[in-house]
Amino acid sequence: MKNWKPFFIENSRVPVILSKIAPINIWAISFGIWVWCRGELSEQTKRHETIHFQQQLELGFALQWAIYAFSYLYHLVKLRDPREAYYDISFEREAYGNEADKNYLENRKRYAWVKYIGREYDYKERIKRARRLGASRSS
Ligand SMILES: [Zn+2]
Repeated sequence: MKNWKPFFIENSRVPVILSKIAPINIWAISFGIWVWCRGELSEQTKRHETIHFQQQLELGFALQWAIYAFSYLYHLVKLRDPREAYYDISFEREAYGNEADKNYLENRKRYAWVKYIGREYDYKERIKRARRLGASRSS
C-alpha cells in the first residue's frame, strides 16, 4: 500500500473551477484515487499529492476529508486568515514539509501527519511557511 500512487490527470479544468471557492489558487488537487492538475505535474508536486493520497488511504478517504475540513475551519476561526489556516492543516504541513525529499514516500511512517497536530513550527518549517504566505499574497 505504501507504494500505491494515485492516477494523475494533467491539463485539467478541475483545479481552475475549484480555485473559485478555495482559499488558495489551486494548481493540483488530490481527491480519492485521482490527482488533477491544471498543467503538467513536477516530481515535487506529484510527491505532495501522493502524500495526500497516502493520508486518505490511512483514513479511508472520507474520514480524511472530514478531518481536513474540520482542521481548516478550526484554524480559520483561530487565525482569521484563509491562507494561513490552509497552511496550518497538519495534512498540508506534512505534504509541504516533505515534498522536496525524493526518498520521503519510501521512508514515510504510517499516520505521519499526526505528529504535526499542535506541534510548534521548527525554524525551517517557519521560514518555508512565511515564504509561501508572502508569495501567495503578492500574486
Ligand atoms: Zn496539499
